[in-house]
Amino acid sequence: VKTVLLSGGTGGAKLARGLIEVCDLTIVANTADDVEMYGVHVSPDPDLITYWLADAIDERGYGIRDDTWKVMDALEAAGVPTWFRLGDRDLAMCLMRTGLLRAGARLTEAHAEVVEAMDVRVPVLPMCDEPVATHVRSGGRLVPFQEYMIVERAETPIDGVELRGIESARPTPEIRDALATADAILIGPSNPVISIGPILGVPGMRDALRDARAPVVAVSPFVGGHGIKGPTDGFCAYAGIETSAAGIARAYDGIVDGVVADEPLDGIPALQTDTLMDTPESRRRMAEETLSLARTLQRLS
Ligand code: GDP
Repeated sequence: VKTVLLSGGTGGAKLARGLIEVCDLTIVANTADDVEMYGVHVSPDPDLITYWLADAIDERGYGIRDDTWKVMDALEAAGVPTWFRLGDRDLAMCLMRTGLLRAGARLTEAHAEVVEAMDVRVPVLPMCDEPVATHVRSGGRLVPFQEYMIVERAETPIDGVELRGIESARPTPEIRDALATADAILIGPSNPVISIGPILGVPGMRDALRDARAPVVAVSPFVGGHGIKGPTDGFCAYAGIETSAAGIARAYDGIVDGVVADEPLDGIPALQTDTLMDTPESRRRMAEETLSLARTLQRLS
């Protein structure tokens, strides 16, 4: 089954890890969290997904397992602020990507080299090649996303979300081709506002999804009525998205043909199951169950 998964970094990445065992997978990853740090282009969500697929993800939930911190230590000793932590191997991947970008590669091409270097065999496609940068309006200030998450610990109230540059972004040829030829399209259990929101916000992406022949199935990121850790609940409150299966169905209204969640849902084809993916077995089971719902669906539109 040719499957495309739209994904942020955490929930979506876990589903991706299950999916590679059971289908022919292409991932479309959020790049609105991308940031320039220490002179390199950091691409948190595509990297996190790639490390998950390589079975190299660190227990912290980001970065590479057993990485070392020599560069961060040296920067710190030199008086450089190091609140954004990049391990040495993680930084090496960013250096490679940055070199390619400077030599004129598209972000899609540059990240493909990271995927290959990590021995991952499936495409992890950035949602676009153009730069997009999430900013959070909070306490009268417009704060770049990583700073809001790490320095402010996502604790201050969210008054707005801006996706700078999104109007100039376009789905890449790789994404258009993957969507047009897919048998199933999945929206991973990722933050609907800051992870899936930017992907769907790329002008032309909704049309490409609507034109696809494959059914679209969303997996809810809410377990027991809440996001698991992270700032999902706060961003959903800001965006007026109820943290429930119905909330997810409404957030993706006009796009999804079915929803997988841990609670019953009326009005749209749905599968109720245990959606927690904390073991290899549960990740594979979720992948199989989500694809089985997709198989039963025809496009509504
Ligand atoms: P980020 O880019 O790292 O913020 O990650 P995502 O946007 O991909 O994922 C954040 C969301 O993943 C949170 O809302 C979590 O509730 C959800 N999530 C994390 N683990 C799981 C899981 O095992 N099952 C489900 N259904 N959702 C999960």
